[in-house]
Amino acid sequence: MILGNWKMHTLKADALTLAASMRTVAEATDTLIGICPPSLWVDQIVTEVADSRLMVGVQDCVADDFGAHTGCINAAMVANAGCAFALLGHSERRKRFGETSQTIAPAVGAILETGLFPVVCVGETEVDRDAGRADQVVAEQLAPLVGQGFDLDGVVIAYEPVWAIGTGRVATLAEIVAMHRWIREVLERPELVVLYGGSVSPETASSIFSSDQVSGALVGGASLDADKFAAIVAAWETR
Ligand code: PEP
Repeated sequence: MILGNWKMHTLKADALTLAASMRTVAEATDTLIGICPPSLWVDQIVTEVADSRLMVGVQDCVADDFGAHTGCINAAMVANAGCAFALLGHSERRKRFGETSQTIAPAVGAILETGLFPVVCVGETEVDRDAGRADQVVAEQLAPLVGQGFDLDGVVIAYEPVWAIGTGRVATLAEIVAMHRWIREVLERPELVVLYGGSVSPETASSIFSSDQVSGALVGGASLDADKFAAIVAAWETR
């Protein structure tokens, strides 16, 4: 599975053009391909790619039922818009909006209840890694997902070291492999889908994908360029 997170990029016309190119990429592969456009463009993009293999997701949502929650969208809305999945707990949401695994765990359940799949983002900061706390921090981020009464097998985890996001610095293969193993161990799910995210590019993808611990990628910057994204997908297919 290779997913793209467009973050707060694109005006509508550019988003529709990019989605059309991503649709072409998705049609040319058996790999599951998904994009997370800004929420404002999701509805139209879902309509435009409805008859294709391209999955559309949102970059965040809340667990709440309908109500007075200014600026929020909930799982029912995400499903009603025709999305296939939702990113939850991206480090940029954790940092800027104070989201934590405790606050996102109910949203994970809400997304699963709608029949969509959640992609839960976890990852340590550079300070945590330098202090030797990466495993502990990621385990703490995963802990609230356990015992919630939902089936963890339906959850996708994206391991995204914060220091590798948008920096051009990729974790070493050894770090990636060890953390993917650790995540499956902590959740006691040997078959869990675990994606790597953090400066995945056409140049770095082949090395990242060389381990069978890695189930795919969550791509930020390079998902805004269909050629780069296609090259990442090609690297996955030839791993
Ligand atoms: C991300 O934001 O999820 C991400 C991985 O970004 P980038 O690929 O740009 O590092």
